[in-house]
Amino acid sequence: MSSSLATRWQALHDALSAQSVQLLAVSKYTDLASIEAVAALGQVDFAESRPQQLRDRAQAYPHLRWHMIGPLQKNKAKYVAQFASMWHSLVDLDTAINVHDALPAGKTLPVLIQVNVSNESQKQGVAENDVLPLYQQLRVQCPHFSVVGMMGMAAHVAGDGEVDAIRASFRRLRQLRDRLLQDDGEVGASFAELSMGMSGDWPIAVQEGATMVRLGSVLFYEMENV
Ligand SMILES: *Cc1c(COP(=O)(O)O)cnc(C)c1O
Repeated sequence: MSSSLATRWQALHDALSAQSVQLLAVSKYTDLASIEAVAALGQVDFAESRPQQLRDRAQAYPHLRWHMIGPLQKNKAKYVAQFASMWHSLVDLDTAINVHDALPAGKTLPVLIQVNVSNESQKQGVAENDVLPLYQQLRVQCPHFSVVGMMGMAAHVAGDGEVDAIRASFRRLRQLRDRLLQDDGEVGASFAELSMGMSGDWPIAVQEGATMVRLGSVLFYEMENV
């Protein structure tokens, strides 16, 4: 069965907005025509994993919002500072300070701390126990950031138990957020966003409390859901 980009966008948009979950269109493998097509349908938030491509596309389409979701090297920090609407993949203080120091005057950048909740050592992200210390350092050293939550990616193990492993990753991230929000004064009440869920696992992420999902292939190309 084939479906058009417009049909896929509408179905995802409707399913997610019914649950008040924000859809980020991950356009990293996509051409400009497809970006323009979904933008014409009403999609405003796009995500890129490479800083130069984020810069180029943010310059080409300044009326759209561009989220940075990939690993970042310090020498590319300025692109995120100048062009990102939100930075999801903050994993270390040094790079954060580089981004912060390159922010245009008057800009406040919403950021998410990326957390490794997958038990896979090759996955990017800070350990759960390091989230609060990093948050506190950011509060002091990066006053023009607004630290609004966390991003995480699920464990993907092959075979039996895969869905359970995915669900466990997302649940850990939500429980961590809930714990941090409950402990009085540890984090601000705005530390609420959970950026979790990609094409292969977004329905589980939504069940587990995602506030935003990052969808590439399931939107721009045809594929099966979980
Ligand atoms: C590429 C990417 C996505 C989207 O992946 P799909 O499986 O194509 O939906 C989401 N998050 C991050 C961090 C990515 O790098």
